[in-house]
Amino acid sequence: MKLILLGPPGAGKGTQAKMLAEYYQIPQISTGDILRTAVKDGTPMGVKAKGHMDAGSLVPDDVVVGIVRERLQQADCAKGFILDGFPRTVPQADALQNALADLGKNLDAVISLEVDLEALVERLTGRRTCRDCGKGFHVRFDPPAVAGKCDACGGELVQRDDDREETIRKRLDVYRAQTEPLAAYYGDAGILHSVDGMQDIQVVKANILETLTAK
Ligand code: ADP
Ligand code: AMP
Repeated sequence: MKLILLGPPGAGKGTQAKMLAEYYQIPQISTGDILRTAVKDGTPMGVKAKGHMDAGSLVPDDVVVGIVRERLQQADCAKGFILDGFPRTVPQADALQNALADLGKNLDAVISLEVDLEALVERLTGRRTCRDCGKGFHVRFDPPAVAGKCDACGGELVQRDDDREETIRKRLDVYRAQTEPLAAYYGDAGILHSVDGMQDIQVVKANILETLTAK
């Protein structure tokens, strides 16, 4: 399965990508996660990306395209992959097509998660992530058994720096201007499937699997 999860920040892409990766036994490729690791490790790429991420704007296309090109060549992508947070611009989508063509591969589907704007802000302000294993939670919609502690590994749950309300507004504006056009891009390609992302996490998962099985 070669899949893109499309949708605004907070739509549930990471949440669903982790579950689908386990279901299909293929890797989740989150450019946001890869960039956050680079920032934390202080690599040259991380240093270059940090200012853009803190401001809620996009990291330059050549940086993220380089990340994905390299990642898709790794052996664990042979059976498929789930792209989460990439592509985010039309030039990134074009570059992905070229990278896949070079590898003799084609996308199977693009799932667009549809979520109301007001819900996104609440999801993002309440998002918490395990510092150690990266598992995601929500203080209200998907709370851990013990507040502030990861259910899976006991690690500390932290809030992302860019999940503050001012940065969230900026990220949603950037999404509308630069990423939303990708729905038409993949619609024209005949591989776009919309899923109602306003439902319970497990219901969204079931709907995605139904959509992928039916196509
Ligand atoms: P994205 O990767 O698209 O930015 P996430 O998967 O990180 O979004 O989800 C954002 C927040 O919303 C997380 O705290 C997550 O637990 C919560 N969330 C995800 N899906 C749902 C859902 N269907 N209903 C309610 N909350 C959700
Ligand atoms: P995410 O974890 O997907 O919400 O991404 C967090 C931040 O990383 C974004 O606000 C961008 O600054 C950067 N980023 C992640 N993916 C991309 C991408 N495909 N293109 C440009 N910037 C990205």
